[in-house]
Amino acid sequence: MRREARAALEEVLGDRVAFDVPMSRYTSMRVGGPADVVATPADRHELGALLRACAKHGLPHCVLGAGFNTLVLDGGLPGVAIHTRGLRRLEERPDRALRAEAGVSHGSVTRFCTTRGLSGLEFAAGIPGTVGGWVAMNAGIGTREVVDVVREVEVMSPTGRRRRHLAGGRLCFGYRGLRGLAPGSVIVSVLLAVSLAEPAQVKAEVDRLLEARAGSQPLNVPSCGSVFRNPPGDYAGRLIEAAGMKGAVEGGAQISTVHANFIATQPGARAADVLALIRRAQREVELSSGIRLVPEVKIVGRES
Ligand SMILES: Cc1cc2nc3c(=O)[nH]c(=O)nc-3n(C[C@H](O)[C@H](O)[C@H](O)COP(=O)(O)OP(=O)(O)OC[C@H]3O[C@@H](n4cnc5c(N)ncnc54)[C@H](O)[C@@H]3O)c2cc1C
Repeated sequence: MRREARAALEEVLGDRVAFDVPMSRYTSMRVGGPADVVATPADRHELGALLRACAKHGLPHCVLGAGFNTLVLDGGLPGVAIHTRGLRRLEERPDRALRAEAGVSHGSVTRFCTTRGLSGLEFAAGIPGTVGGWVAMNAGIGTREVVDVVREVEVMSPTGRRRRHLAGGRLCFGYRGLRGLAPGSVIVSVLLAVSLAEPAQVKAEVDRLLEARAGSQPLNVPSCGSVFRNPPGDYAGRLIEAAGMKGAVEGGAQISTVHANFIATQPGARAADVLALIRRAQREVELSSGIRLVPEVKIVGRES
C-alpha cells in the first residue's frame, strides 16, 4: 500500500486501523488469510471519513460485521475491511420501534427487548452476528426473516458522501440476502418494528428458541452456521446427508455429524479445507439428487 494512503487512513482512524491482520481473528470459522487493512471506525462520522479516504486513494473496501457468515480465503483480503463494531447505539423510540446501529450484536438486541418487554424480534434469538450482517443477509428462521420487521434502513454510499434512509418496503430482500444496494454501500443503522409485551412472555419465547437451537446445532465448535441455502422444497442438510457426506473430512474441516449443513473447523484448519468440503458436497449432492447447492456463506478474498 502506498505510503500516502496508509498515512491518510491513520490520520482518519488513529489506532483504530491495523495492517496485515489475519482474518481468522475476525470470522467465526477461525480461518482465512490477512486483510491488507482492518479499519474500525468509532462512529458514523469516522465511517464517512474512512470511505472518503478509501475513494480518494483508490483503496477497495468491504464490510465485515461479526464474521459469522463469512469465509475469507487463505490468500487474504485486498484493501480495507471495515469492521462495524464501533457503530453500537441502540435505543427504543416512542413509535414502537428500535433504532439499532449496524455494529450492535443480535445478543444485545435480544437482551434489550427481553428486559423492556418488546416483542417481534424473538425469532433472532441465537442467530449470532451484528445488526448490519443480519439485515444484509435477511437472516431468519423458518418463515420469519428480517424483512418482516425492518421499517427503514440507513445506508451510507460507497464513497461516504451520502446517507439515505430507505423504507423497508422499497428494499429488495430475498432469501438470505438484500439486493439493490450499490456495491460497497454500508448499512449504518436500521429501524425495527416492535410491540409491547410482558417481559416474561418475551423471555419464554427466547428461551424456547435457544433451547431448540442448542438441541439441533453444533454450537460449541467454530462454524458459520448453515453453509448452503435450502433449495426450494428441500433442506441442504438432508441432501448432504443423503449423499453420504455427513462427517466427511478435508484437512482440519469436517461436515458436522450433528447437522450436515454445518462445517466445523479445528485449530490449524485452512480456508482451503472448508472450500474443498463445500465443493465436494456440491458435487456429491448434484450427482445423487441433480440439485446444485448454492452457498449461503459469503466467500471472499483470494485463494492462495
Ligand atoms: C452457529 C450459527 C448459527 C446460525 N444460525 C443462523 C440462523 O438461524 N439464521 C440465519 O439467517 N443465519 C444464521 N447464521 C448465520 C449468521 O449468524 C447470520 O448470517 C448473521 O446475520 C451474520 O451477521 P454478521 O454480522 O456476523 O455478518 P458477517 O458475516 O460479518 O457479514 C455477512 C455479510 O453481510 C455484509 N455486511 C455485514 N455488515 C454490513 C453492513 N453494516 N453494511 C453492509 N453490509 C454488511 C458483509 O459484507 C457480508 O457480505 C448462523 C451462524 C452461526 C455461526
